[in-house]
Amino acid sequence: MKKLVFATQNPHKLQEINQMMGHLYHIVTPLDLGITEEIPETGHTFHDNALQKAKYLLDRTACDCFADDSGLEVFALEGAPGVYSARYAGEEKDPEANMRLLLQNLMDQPDRSARFVTVIAFIRDGEHHFFEGEIKGQIIHEKRGEKGFGYDPIFMPDGYDRTFAEMTAEEKNAISHRKIALSKLAEFLEISSTI
Ligand code: IMP
Repeated sequence: MKKLVFATQNPHKLQEINQMMGHLYHIVTPLDLGITEEIPETGHTFHDNALQKAKYLLDRTACDCFADDSGLEVFALEGAPGVYSARYAGEEKDPEANMRLLLQNLMDQPDRSARFVTVIAFIRDGEHHFFEGEIKGQIIHEKRGEKGFGYDPIFMPDGYDRTFAEMTAEEKNAISHRKIALSKLAEFLEISSTI
């Protein structure tokens, strides 16, 4: 089975991806290949960052590779925190501090609409392919729920009365930005494997 390198250290992401495309590819992580350093992520867009990570792995493994980059965009804040979602309140990458700062910056702001975005960059035989997923919602005024990670307690997807942090992993993963982008990649791989 052909090897596909996925830029993650996150076992949950790996498991999700294996469920979706493990029948087509043998998915391996940088760690499996002895790449232990943090992969640089210095771009100003999700596309730049995802491609930068995929290229980094291509240069070191010469295998087909893909990487994802995600974040939260708030419309009233002109797309912030965007690519800086993980470190919005500082290099400590503290989700509580990030949420506090976001809620503070949205105080008195009537428009609380936002979206989570994922961009996947996939490099196969030297060609770059991008797959995007988004889910729109609202930033609520106070945290709700204990599950999930990052901004989940303050993000309520449109059409739901619960935040991402009040949903089970299965519920969230069925509708998330990441799932939408991954499904597009899986569909692309499925179609191209039959050609
Ligand atoms: P990554 O590119 O998947 O590592 O995501 C970067 C940052 O965006 C995370 O550290 C979170 O702050 C935020 N983020 C991305 N996806 C989600 C999500 O599904 N829920 C909550 N926060 C997220």
